[in-house]
Amino acid sequence: MSDPQPRPETVCIRAGEPVDPGEQSLRLPLHMSSSFQLPDFGPELFDTLMLGTDRPRHHQYTRWTNPTLRALEDRLAALEGAEAGLVFASGMAAITALPLTLLSAGDHMIVSDVCYIGSSEFYGLYLKNYGVEVSRVDTSNLPDVAAAVRPNTRLIAIETPVNPILRLADIAAIADISRSAGAVLAVDSTFGGPLLQKPLDLGADYVIHSVGKHLNGHGDLLAGVILGPKEGLQRIRQVALIHLGGALSPFNAWLAMRGLTTYPLRFERHCENALAVARYLEGHPAIERVIYPGLESHPQHDLARRQMGPGYGGMVNVHLKGGIAAAVSFKERARLWRYATSLGHPDSLAYYLPTDLFLGSPPPLTEAQQADVRRWMGPAGVLRLSVGLEAVDDIIQDLESALETPPTEKGRAAAKDYDEMIALFGLGFTE
Ligand SMILES: *Cc1c(COP(=O)(O)O)cnc(C)c1O
Repeated sequence: MSDPQPRPETVCIRAGEPVDPGEQSLRLPLHMSSSFQLPDFGPELFDTLMLGTDRPRHHQYTRWTNPTLRALEDRLAALEGAEAGLVFASGMAAITALPLTLLSAGDHMIVSDVCYIGSSEFYGLYLKNYGVEVSRVDTSNLPDVAAAVRPNTRLIAIETPVNPILRLADIAAIADISRSAGAVLAVDSTFGGPLLQKPLDLGADYVIHSVGKHLNGHGDLLAGVILGPKEGLQRIRQVALIHLGGALSPFNAWLAMRGLTTYPLRFERHCENALAVARYLEGHPAIERVIYPGLESHPQHDLARRQMGPGYGGMVNVHLKGGIAAAVSFKERARLWRYATSLGHPDSLAYYLPTDLFLGSPPPLTEAQQADVRRWMGPAGVLRLSVGLEAVDDIIQDLESALETPPTEKGRAAAKDYDEMIALFGLGFTE
């Protein structure tokens, strides 16, 4: 494209998808092939084997590169304004790739005290087995982040807004801390997305997305991406894709390319519907508190406006007055809302996360951190809403019936079972 800075709507349709030079197809060919015929011995073969090049002319093996995967990498890089991208079989494969590539025994890493539970468990449970020290820090508290820096801090991994609590981190300010520490800053930007926030422009080194969420948007695949500088990504490709092997299927890359063509349209509607839902729920008698970065009542609304506005994402959290009993009753009474994990689907999805589950994840949180998590998640738990693309009046009407009180019989029984389960087994993770 000739425009040096094409707009996202155009990027999502055109980047990475030129007319196929072979058959002249407008749409991207799907290269379902693990292997590619190699050139003869010589410089071209050297190139293909990716010895010292980030972008070989020829492909060899799909775990290294594949034309359909490359198309997705190019589109996501263009959308994020990154030099390059590297796609993975899932968001978790992308998230684990960074510390496993960049860190070695004796290094220290700072992570958000609350983040996507899979990341949180990986940082807390496994990195110490490789001799990496991990500090869990409230990344909304800049002095805490600065105080956690040590001489051996090599990597800072933040998430904003945080899944599931919708707390924000000031990317530019943490990038300053990271730069003066000589560390690398990675931002999981899944909840904000490239239409609302551009962590690389704010000074981050890498951006990560779980591509199967709003970016793909159809709820039909898993994929992940790391976006950032070419040179760094080349090393990550060698360690994390060639050796750890979390390669994406070309079929899923092809689907994600198709999903992305409508991302700007869809995401704008997700944001609009979410704001309408958040406004409707604020003040609802069954609800203690609504958390949405676009509401004036969000504790970091100013930062949200500065860093994400004018849109605030498709996720809304509610603290139900009736706790787990109300959540189970919600599931029973809802017709349109589906009770399922994940987010960014066309369908509206609800999922209940008990606060204790997050407090039990290692390494242990300080009392102040625990109190902060309880404030964000509610004393019992949070009902996480991924607001879908159905008619907003239908979405809200169904909320109205699903939030009826008192709890159903099943809801009351579930609350009792849950309490008994905690009493019997306790919470916390075993290794
Ligand atoms: C879902 C999610 C992930 C994990 O991605 P998968 O594709 O499910 O592995 C990571 N970070 C955030 C913020 C997520 O929402």
